[in-house]
This record gives sequence, C-alpha cells and structure tokens, in this order.
Amino acid sequence: MKILVVEDEKKIASFVKKGLAEAGITADVAHNGDDGYRLAAMQPYDALVLDIMLPGRDGLSILRGLREKKNPVPVILLTARSELRERLEGLNLGADDYITKPFFIEELVARLQAVARRARGEGLTIIQIGDLTINLVTREVKRGATKVELTAREFSLLEYLMRAPGRVLTRTQILEHVWGYDFDPQTNLVDVNIQRLRKKICPNGEEDLIETLRGVGYRCRKIEP
Ligand code: CA
Repeated sequence: MKILVVEDEKKIASFVKKGLAEAGITADVAHNGDDGYRLAAMQPYDALVLDIMLPGRDGLSILRGLREKKNPVPVILLTARSELRERLEGLNLGADDYITKPFFIEELVARLQAVARRARGEGLTIIQIGDLTINLVTREVKRGATKVELTAREFSLLEYLMRAPGRVLTRTQILEHVWGYDFDPQTNLVDVNIQRLRKKICPNGEEDLIETLRGVGYRCRKIEP
C-alpha cells in the first residue's frame, strides 16, 4: 500500500509517516497544497491523507480538483475538532472518511486499510452461498442458524472457494492461496481439508456446496441467496 500524506505541520507529518511505516505502509509526504496536488494528480496512490488547512491549495481544493478530474483515489481528511463545516464539505466533495486531530496512528491505519479495501471492491464483509454465510470481519461461519467452528486454515479455504462461486479452483491454486508456499503437487493436503470442511459446513446433513471435479480441483456451487 502506498499513501500520500499532505500535511504542513512537519511534526504531525513525520509522526504519520513513521507510524505508517511501522504498519508496513509506505508514505510520501507533501508539506504544502500545491506539491500535494501535483503528486496526487501524477501518481497512483492507494489513498491520500489530506490536511485541510494548508499553505497553497487547501485540502478541500485538492479534493475538489481530483474529483473533478474523476480521480477516485480514497481520501481521508485530517481535521481539527473545530472544522465541522469543512469536514462536512469534504464528505460532500467525495472524501471517504475523516479523522480528528489528535488521533492514534492505529486508528488512521485501520481507516486507511478500510478505505483501500473498499476501493478495491473488497468492501463486503459477509459472503453468502445458499444458507451458508461467512463473516470476513468476525470470522463467524453459519449454516442456516447453526454456528460452525472452523480452524483458521479451513476458514481461508472456505473463503477462497466462496469468493469465486461457480469457478473451478485447481489444487495448485488452492495450495498457493491457502497454504502459501510450494508443496509437492502430489500432496493430499487440499483433499483432506476439503473433506473436513465439507463435514463441518453440513452439520445437519445439509446439501453439499463444494463440488469435486475429479483430477482438476474443486468448485463452490453458485446459488442465489
Ligand atoms: Ca495544517
């Protein structure tokens, strides 16, 4: 994730840059509105952290300029508690979120991750196939009204299948995605875990939602909720 921070108070800017770096997020910093706008218009960032009161172009003018050019980059406004009017104007102009100074860096990181996820179209928190639902935030799995307990690995296997209903996923794809490293393709890790998962998501003998394509892989059935 690469972020642009536009903030003229050097102390805050470096606090943010350092905090983001600790969370594994790279940030460019601009200390005035003109540089900020130029960078934001030029480079594809995953999100912008935009102070409102800036020398040169102010934050709202940057936001307006970007949105007029149909630039959809997610924007989080940094606002002072007193800047209610500016905050509302910013949201109307298409800011995705705001954070009030002073703030904890963890909160900014969480909001950045949320807006970046939304921008990538991963905003959904619940995936449902038939009467099977998984909640990507709480990690809760339910078949009808029955709660299903899964291990972390089983959950990510199920999530991977449910994100692509109707699509065949090969054993290799599943191994790479869920286990994340090179396994002997002869391993039966996938098959064993699919069997276990199948049993768990059919706690009361419900219909099977995972199809086996012999010699190819697996597919989650496509059922409208
Ligand atoms: Ca400022």
